[in-house]
Amino acid sequence: MVKICCIGAGYVGGPTMAVIALKCPDIEVVVVDISSPRIAGWNSDRLPIYEPGLDDVVKQCRGRNLSFSTEVHRHVGDADIVFVSVNTPTKTCGLGAGKAADLTYWESAARMIADVSVSDKIVVEKSTVPVKTAEAIEKILAHNGRGFSYQILSNPEFLAEGTAIRDLLSPDRVLVGGRRDTAAGSAAVDLLAGVYARWVPQDRIITTNLWSAELSKLAANAFLAQRISSVNAVSALCEATGADIAEVAHSVGKDARIGSRFLSASVGFGGSCFQKDILNLVYICECYGLPEVASYWREVIRINDYQKSRFVNRVVSSMFNTVAGKKVAVLGFAFKKDTGDTRETPAIDVCKGLLGDKAVVSIYDPQVAGEQVARDLAMNKFDWDHPRHLQPLEQLSATDLEKQVAVAADAYEAAKDAHAVCILTEWDEFRGLDYRRMFQGMQKPAFVFDGRNVVEVAKLREIGFVVYSIGKPLDD
Ligand code: NAD
Repeated sequence: MVKICCIGAGYVGGPTMAVIALKCPDIEVVVVDISSPRIAGWNSDRLPIYEPGLDDVVKQCRGRNLSFSTEVHRHVGDADIVFVSVNTPTKTCGLGAGKAADLTYWESAARMIADVSVSDKIVVEKSTVPVKTAEAIEKILAHNGRGFSYQILSNPEFLAEGTAIRDLLSPDRVLVGGRRDTAAGSAAVDLLAGVYARWVPQDRIITTNLWSAELSKLAANAFLAQRISSVNAVSALCEATGADIAEVAHSVGKDARIGSRFLSASVGFGGSCFQKDILNLVYICECYGLPEVASYWREVIRINDYQKSRFVNRVVSSMFNTVAGKKVAVLGFAFKKDTGDTRETPAIDVCKGLLGDKAVVSIYDPQVAGEQVARDLAMNKFDWDHPRHLQPLEQLSATDLEKQVAVAADAYEAAKDAHAVCILTEWDEFRGLDYRRMFQGMQKPAFVFDGRNVVEVAKLREIGFVVYSIGKPLDD
């Protein structure tokens, strides 16, 4: 029986391995992590991440051919294929701080593989890594290994949180990069492609050289983020001119060369990947002596920051230029719907902006616990070396936070006695709220600031709300 071991039981490692186990019952799949609470979560009825459909897949496979363990060395040691799906955040100090990928976890995983191997292995880059990382891994394994052979493959993951299981079961493409110039390298590519071919149509499995696969992941995320920044940039112009971003995006997206997906204006993109991967791309361009290309991609992040600050400024200026002492209900804290992930969520910047103007913020998100909100808002944000439009709010003390931030049990509680409601995540439940009931319990004038274009503006105006919706014509 082939044994797969995945190092890293996170948002990528957990779901991807669960789907491989589901589709390949003859393969033993073990997911290992150094975090025992995470592994305990995967072995319980309350999985450590929220992802629609994930519970079902895990329940079907766990105890059959899927297991989760903290015995990292044992399972890595005798696996045939080792996926490395550890975190690769942005470096916060030293060379490349604020841009380069921090490969500390990656490197220690590679060294550990070399130390504990008792057989030859295929080592698969599942994490998003800078182009040429495979070369570094090859060196680490060659210099530290104990005579075993290692084939390195790049198999970047394209799933999106919130739709991970759907994306994994029916991916647009699976990418396997490897060294076709050696027999062992070629066999490794075929073996991994063969695993995916059990359920992915052949024409969706792309094999490339290692560097193309590594770079494709960064490029794909940069393109996706760029699309959001493009539509958000147009949304600002819509508000200035009276055009409606929904109408503009619809008209633009009808062009088959452009397409209609990923054209929703919003308060900005978030998540652990887009910003980090673009910064990584910027750094790589700079390292390869391509400053113009670097500054091109950097603008995508600048517009994203601008969009968040534009939203905060709109809230404050609409509410007579101050929110001091005013209660503002924040609906949604996760970076998108159908996930509890708050990494780099725009809600952090928006809340910090409001708190900086001394608002009292009451937050409700169906999947984000209060402790997580508190952790995120208390966290000092790294001072990126590009200009931030938002003032960092490190000066907020723990007592300020306690006085100014509350976490509500539902949207109505959050909005009770509030002067304004800010919608920051596009959860479906926010579309169906009883806004009339909400209006009755609020201070007047009652404002709605919709950062995701989920409400029906005309209906809310009819109720009596003053409504601002990203990229939509403003109230008179
Ligand atoms: P994550 O932080 O949720 O999970 C990473 C896990 O790796 C953590 O649980 C950590 O404890 C574990 N880990 C770190 N070092 C380890 C070691 N030496 N041994 C064992 N376990 C170790 O991260 P994630 O969101 O799953 O992302 C993982 C990688 O996949 C990143 O490179 C990310 O950029 C990429 N990616 C993420 C997404 C996404 O939507 N989250 C999508 C595609 C690609």
